[in-house]
Amino acid sequence: MSQSVSSIVITGASAGIGEETAILFAERGWHVVLGARRKDKLQALATKLSQKGASQVTVLVLDVTDDKSVEQFAASAWEAAGGKIDVLFNNAGLALGVDHVSKGLVSDWESMLDTNVTGLLRVTRALLPKMIDSAHGHVINMGSIASHVVYEGGSVYCATKHAVRAITKTMRLELNGTPIRVSLIDPGMVETDFSLVRFKEDQERAKSVYKGVTPLTGRDIAECVWFAAARPKHVNIEEIVVMPVDQAAPHKINRK
Ligand code: NAP
Repeated sequence: MSQSVSSIVITGASAGIGEETAILFAERGWHVVLGARRKDKLQALATKLSQKGASQVTVLVLDVTDDKSVEQFAASAWEAAGGKIDVLFNNAGLALGVDHVSKGLVSDWESMLDTNVTGLLRVTRALLPKMIDSAHGHVINMGSIASHVVYEGGSVYCATKHAVRAITKTMRLELNGTPIRVSLIDPGMVETDFSLVRFKEDQERAKSVYKGVTPLTGRDIAECVWFAAARPKHVNIEEIVVMPVDQAAPHKINRK
């Protein structure tokens, strides 16, 4: 890390893994740039981050599915970070439903593809040229165990995460010869609002996903992001696949 204040830009910072990552980097004195659609959540988090030790907190409304929003976000994030972003954490994402392909909703598919794939690309396209020009930075993309394997009812979500893995691997090739690092984090089951969103606010169904299991926490994943970011500059962590001990594959779960 350089001697000046380090900065991390986090998409999907209003909840779950993004929120926990913001807290961990704040504890280590970083400038944390928060992006998500829910400004009230980001503002509440910003207060907490300042108390936790963040050197600076920047709150920016971001909808990764909206070109203009991403454009404004990227310009403001770059300016707030003083023209040097240490880490771009492309974390915003979601799953919607577990319908089989024969029954799925096109609107759910479009939303997952636009958020998880095109959204990640939009944000990266807006910031990466600046990072290349400044010869500095690290892009950490949020994959999933669904980047590696598939399961019934997960066709499009798994497709989006397979795409994120392909994009990450391609970026790694394209950025060879620059100092920009590229990493992928692939968690199994993490207890966040993920299932609540997937099951469209059905609390009982969302809770049942974690029943009898010790899932990963957002903090566990934040630690992985930190590990990748905190290596010396000549080290590129390619990919971290991290699972709960209770989960050996998406459907191989030890429930007590
Ligand atoms: P979460 O608690 O539901 O958080 C999702 C975050 O993404 C929220 O901050 C949400 O903020 C943001 N987001 C969604 N759509 C957005 C959009 N259009 N523009 C900007 N931000 C958007 O879920 P999570 O588990 O932390 O998920 C974070 C990432 O981890 C996702 O990419 C997910 O696929 C991945 N992941 C999760 C798990 C798991 O088991 N939880 C496992 C593997 C990978 P707003 O709603 O405020 O915009």
